[in-house]
Amino acid sequence: MSDVWILAHDPAAGNTLARSARALGDRVIAVSIGAGVLAAADLTLVIETAAQALPEAYAQPVAELLRSRGAKLVLADAGTQSRLLAGQVAAHLGVSPVTAAGITPGEPLVVTRLAFGGLAVATEELTADVAVLVLSPGALPASDAAGAGASETVEAVPAGGLTLVETRAKGGETVDLAAAKRVVGVGRGFAAEGDLELARTLAATLGAELACSRPLAEGVDWMPAERYLGVSGATIKPDLYLAIGISGQVQHLVGVNHSKVIVAINSDAKAPIFAHADFGVVGDLYQVLPELAKNL
Ligand SMILES: Cc1cc2nc3c(=O)[nH]c(=O)nc-3n(C[C@H](O)[C@H](O)[C@H](O)COP(=O)(O)OP(=O)(O)OC[C@H]3O[C@@H](n4cnc5c(N)ncnc54)[C@H](O)[C@@H]3O)c2cc1C
Repeated sequence: MSDVWILAHDPAAGNTLARSARALGDRVIAVSIGAGVLAAADLTLVIETAAQALPEAYAQPVAELLRSRGAKLVLADAGTQSRLLAGQVAAHLGVSPVTAAGITPGEPLVVTRLAFGGLAVATEELTADVAVLVLSPGALPASDAAGAGASETVEAVPAGGLTLVETRAKGGETVDLAAAKRVVGVGRGFAAEGDLELARTLAATLGAELACSRPLAEGVDWMPAERYLGVSGATIKPDLYLAIGISGQVQHLVGVNHSKVIVAINSDAKAPIFAHADFGVVGDLYQVLPELAKNL
């Protein structure tokens, strides 16, 4: 019987991960760090956490638990805290965590991951004794399979260091770009922040979410960081992605190239985005967008 281990500190994300993990083994065993018993796992090893301890404070005892139980394959989701925990657990196990964009079940497992900042995709066979994988969204198919739901309580002492002082709702907006069916992306082709109104109007007409290239979120700060697409931003798979004034650098394309249809509007006929677009308009966005708005 092959076991797949998962790390969970949040019940909802943990159950989703447990259901996906089923594609890789016969039995899913969860190490739950304050997430209770996971219904989607076959066995949950429950660690009751101290109120002020962060999940990563349990990295060492979790690694010892995994080692003592002979875990070979350990999965974590791609949430910020999960990645932090997975990285520290992997370090205690003496391996490097691998962020997997895709996994092909089999013996050995084949993992694809982005290399050189998204310039290339590396395909690797997992042959190490222990592997810690951080799953990018969509790396494994979602499933609704239920687990056996057994549980054991495990004692673990958190490491000192950072403690949780207060929890506050994140300010600003939340957006689920990954679920959007239509996305309008804006880039540095827009000369002023106020001009984004042209794209906002278009997005509203199309029933699309507004997104952007990284410089608009982390350069001029015209858009929130949650809305930039790419290797270090969000990944989308909409039916339609409309890229306006975006050159199409590889770091951006990594986040959008699973779109069913890509339409690009760019004044430079040689912009790389056109090589990846299904439809392209070579033109000044300040002329094209008002025309589009009139005709939609
Ligand atoms: C490690 C690393 C990670 C990165 N991660 C990301 C990431 O996750 N996401 C991301 O997006 N970028 C990322 N980048 C940055 C990336 O390399 C590009 O710099 C960025 O995507 C370019 O944004 P842009 O297309 O908006 O701007 P530009 O490359 O400047 O392109 C602007 C485009 O607008 C066009 N244009 C100008 N005026 C008009 C007009 N009036 N009408 C129509 N078109 C016009 C131009 O022809 C040009 O093609 C990363 C870079 C590094 C080094």
